[in-house]
Amino acid sequence: MNEIIVAKFGGSSLADSAQFKKVKSIVTEDLRRKYIVPSAPGKRFKEDYKITDLLYLCHAHVEQNISFEEVFNIIEERYVGLVEELNLDLDIKNELNIVREKVKNGASKDYTASRGEYLNGLILAAYLDIPFVDPKELIYFNEKGVLDLEVTVKRVSEKLSSIERAVIPGFYGALENGDIKTFSRGGSDITGSIISRGVNAALYENWTDVSGFLMADPRIVDNPRNIEKITYKELRELSYMGATVLHEEAVFPVREAGIPINIKNTNSPEDKGTLIVSDDNFENKYNTITGVAGKKDFTVITIEKTMMNAEKGYCRRVLSILEDHNMAFEHMPSGIDNVSVIVSNSELNGKIEEILEEIRFKCKPDFIEVHGDMALIAVVGKVMKRNAGISAKLFNALYENDVNVRMITQGSSEINIIIGVENGDFEKALKVIYEAF
Ligand code: ASP
Repeated sequence: MNEIIVAKFGGSSLADSAQFKKVKSIVTEDLRRKYIVPSAPGKRFKEDYKITDLLYLCHAHVEQNISFEEVFNIIEERYVGLVEELNLDLDIKNELNIVREKVKNGASKDYTASRGEYLNGLILAAYLDIPFVDPKELIYFNEKGVLDLEVTVKRVSEKLSSIERAVIPGFYGALENGDIKTFSRGGSDITGSIISRGVNAALYENWTDVSGFLMADPRIVDNPRNIEKITYKELRELSYMGATVLHEEAVFPVREAGIPINIKNTNSPEDKGTLIVSDDNFENKYNTITGVAGKKDFTVITIEKTMMNAEKGYCRRVLSILEDHNMAFEHMPSGIDNVSVIVSNSELNGKIEEILEEIRFKCKPDFIEVHGDMALIAVVGKVMKRNAGISAKLFNALYENDVNVRMITQGSSEINIIIGVENGDFEKALKVIYEAF
């Protein structure tokens, strides 16, 4: 049996020397934790700075010919402080000077930002006393700047087959010519996933400052229960609707290989966290929905036309109008002679009148109605597939609490029901749904 665990630690897990100590005790407690992926140091307290943000700021200053020294000094102080407090024999000042010089001489934005993880990786490797491996040798982006997963996985597997344990900084890799390239923000999650895939890990642990995913947003619902186990598909639905703990793109590399992800809390390591798995044969312990999440501010455009069902290409014409404006749509529920298109208000960007005009011109509808203040709520759970009572319970609870449901759609995978309610009913609807289950 493969006994490798890849453990990624987020910025808050490595924000100061006290957090480094927690990380060390987690790593040494289970020796299957062989490959460790750190983020750059995050905030120590609410008003604090994230190192990555400061690095981006340095780069912006240099670009605008403003001195960046003051900002860089804050970065230097944090790293030097870490090395001193952890009593390490590491010449971090020299490393910082190299970075400072390069940034001063116009290093790229990606190079500059990546140094947060690079420097933190050097410190963590020294502290854990295991080798440091630079991801620029492993993570490969093609000439378009897109990750080449196949080449990358091959490199990771080859290189790490002879290195039993290592610290590999998150967030960046390199192009063919060696130039550093970063993922989008929060991208260390992706690095952890890629390394897990490359070494064919038994488990990918993602250590952060919460004990996994909650069934609902704690800012709206009081003390929502933790999700112990969730499938990748369910997670995708919830994340899309705003439940964020993990970078969206972090799921793909491990999902293909069936490697589970465990979201864990560095500040409370005994908590089980949330386990994300691919097989959907497990029973949800409470035989209920997995979670509920939602977003406000969508517009519904409802179009009616007699005999629409018989008219070929009607929906395509409607959608092509959105496409011409480079707008994505969310859902498209339809009836026999009507169809609704749901678009987020940010996507519409004030262009609704223009869009309506084009629909009138190209699609000649009998009637168009626009409703601009909708919230969408995704009720997610694979239990829905074989339990008719779930939707009955859901709509009954909403009805009894006077929440008017303006739209319903269900994906064909039957793991979610999306309901549309007025923006003003959003919080109430989330609470009612959570309580009902
Ligand atoms: N340090 C990077 C960021 O702040 C990447 C990460 O933390 O995952 O976005």
